[in-house]
Amino acid sequence: MLETQLCQCPYCGERVEVLLDLSAGDQSYVEDCSVCCRPIQFELRTDGVDWSLEAHREDD
Ligand SMILES: [Zn+2]
Repeated sequence: MLETQLCQCPYCGERVEVLLDLSAGDQSYVEDCSVCCRPIQFELRTDGVDWSLEAHREDD
């Protein structure tokens, strides 16, 4: 199941749209911000239904 979510970029503060794959369980991955192009580290926790997403700077 795919879900789209707006998430605030930890670098530039703009809201960027990210695609979450809830069927794949807990994930952590890096995706470039579509506004400032810097790499955002996403931490997705999910049991397939409920989920939470955190965005960190890669250098944190
Ligand atoms: Zn950004």
